[in-house]
Amino acid sequence: MTATAYETVIGLETHVQLNTRSKMFCACERDYFDTEPNTHVCPVCLGMPGVLPVINAQAVTFTILTGLALGCAIPRRSKFDRKNYPYPDLMKGYQISQYDQPLCTGGGLEIQLAGERRLVHLERVHLEEDTARLLHRDDGSGEGYSLMDVNRAGVPLMEIVTKPDMRSAAEAVAYMRKLRQTLRYICVSDVDMEKGSFRCDANVSIRPVGTDRLGAKVEVKNMNSFRAVQRAIEFEVERQARMLASGGSVAQETRGYVDATGETVSQRSKEEAHDYRYFPEPDLPPLECMPELVEALRARLPELPDAKRARFEREYALGAEEARALTETRERAGAFEAAARAVKPGRTRALAHWLLGDVAALLNSGPGSVELAATPLTPEHLAQLVDLVEDGAITAATGKQVLEAAFASGDSPSAIVEAGGLGQVRDEGELARIAQAVLNANPRAVADFHGGKESALQFLVGQVMRQTRGRSDPLSAAQALRRLLVA
Ligand code: ADP
Ligand code: MG
Ligand code: ZN
Repeated sequence: MTATAYETVIGLETHVQLNTRSKMFCACERDYFDTEPNTHVCPVCLGMPGVLPVINAQAVTFTILTGLALGCAIPRRSKFDRKNYPYPDLMKGYQISQYDQPLCTGGGLEIQLAGERRLVHLERVHLEEDTARLLHRDDGSGEGYSLMDVNRAGVPLMEIVTKPDMRSAAEAVAYMRKLRQTLRYICVSDVDMEKGSFRCDANVSIRPVGTDRLGAKVEVKNMNSFRAVQRAIEFEVERQARMLASGGSVAQETRGYVDATGETVSQRSKEEAHDYRYFPEPDLPPLECMPELVEALRARLPELPDAKRARFEREYALGAEEARALTETRERAGAFEAAARAVKPGRTRALAHWLLGDVAALLNSGPGSVELAATPLTPEHLAQLVDLVEDGAITAATGKQVLEAAFASGDSPSAIVEAGGLGQVRDEGELARIAQAVLNANPRAVADFHGGKESALQFLVGQVMRQTRGRSDPLSAAQALRRLLVA
């Protein structure tokens, strides 16, 4: 008997806090990061009786923008509903969400996995409000308690739901990365997993390969890094396969991921699942999304990652990987394009190499990585550096020193070269004199070379480079040495 082979099926529900100025239904400041608990509150987000919510137009705009970026349809009619369940983090006893008429429907996100393109289809994108934050404490007395911070209650929360389209943990992570990149491009959220502004629940099931029916799904929560998403899904798939292999069945339930152990633990079974008793929110009017408004928003969309990547490949003669890396963020792409406009024709590829190599290393050398715009190095200076090297005015080795100096000081590369006398040694006579001095000082290497040891030449070239502090080009140095050695 052969073991049954299983296929993994994953659907993701991603919650995204929108970076509006105020909360979803009141005027309280939305950003609660680093603020004293329970300071951004008012009768509306505290859930006091007798108060009325007001829809945050910016949040609606951001959600429609997201839907358009993800290829969704924007139905003309949309409405809010009450999702009822009792929990201490829910101030009113219900969450205002969207049930059967979300702001955006359908759509999809194209991802690349192992060089292959795949479209992850979406179910919907809807708008709701975040809940308060519970902080569980244990003072050691054996009786734990919870503290509550209402600052998060009422923060605009967008939920993006996929179809059960993904087939591996790696694919789920690729989807999350692409989604985060896209949301960053359109500037609707900080999308920070650690801060909780970008979080996902993974619905995971397995089924025998070749079958169409979906298996019982387990919803996994509480992952706050890409690594956690990957590990949680991998663990869950293995756990389910073990259950089936031992003749059991997978129970539909909600499980929580525990980062310390890399495991998922049961939180709530299907029987304990809430009946949310959804009904239309009576305190809010339905929304009517006029086609003109939708088109106006579509016109506001920036060039998105895939389009930008394709254009970069075409316009700047870049390889697929270079174009992908340069378009990782809008800021990086913008810095590259500004420098590309300043550099001499035909040098965009060289520019890309500098930007992705030595410049990237400098940008990542601090505690976190920064964008070029946050450093003293301007795109114009970067272009000038590339031109100095490509013109042969300085060597590549000197270029690295000049880059570091320009990066630190904001001075122009040409001024740095001039002030430091860093121009390339191009005078043949001067180079020959230095080469001769190196030969005189290294009789052993000279003998080795004459004895047929080619590598001795490399050593001598290194000595010339040292003498000139990198100002000679290795090829010219090798030529000068060889000329003297065989003379
Ligand atoms: P629920 O009503 O339990 O929330 P939904 O049908 O709304 O379930 O689906 C929630 C998410 O779970 C969606 O992303 C969907 O693609 C995914 N999903 C549904 N069924 C399965 C399954 N059998 N295996 C994996 N994912 C699933
Ligand atoms: Mg659901
Ligand atoms: Zn409020």
